[in-house]
Amino acid sequence: MAKKKRDATICPKCGTKVEPIKTWQLVSPMPDSKGRITITIMGSFQCPNCGHKWRGVVSKIKIGGGEIEVKGKKIKEPEPVQEEPEVIELDLDELDVSDEEIEKALKSK
Ligand SMILES: [Zn+2]
Repeated sequence: MAKKKRDATICPKCGTKVEPIKTWQLVSPMPDSKGRITITIMGSFQCPNCGHKWRGVVSKIKIGGGEIEVKGKKIKEPEPVQEEPEVIELDLDELDVSDEEIEKALKSK
C-alpha cells in the first residue's frame, strides 16, 4: 500500500501553505549503512488561515560517504573508486619541514 507523503508545510486542516515559525535540527547519533549521518530539520508551524498548530519534518539531509542527500535526492555524486570513507590526516610535525622551507620550495621553481 502506497503511503502518501504528507508535506509538513501544508496545513493538515485547510491545506494552506505555511512557512515554519521555528525550525531546529535533529542529528541522528548513529550513521546509516552507508556511514552517513542523517540530519532532520524539524519545524513548528501555525496556520495563518485557521490557526491550527503542528510540528513536522521540513527536510532531511544525509551527509557523509562522499555524498549529500536532501529529501532522498542526491545532490552530489559519490567519488569514483572510493569504497570506504577515508580521512587523510597530515601531521606537519612529522614532515620535519618548516614553513620557511615550504615557502622556499614553492618559490624556487
Ligand atoms: Zn489551516
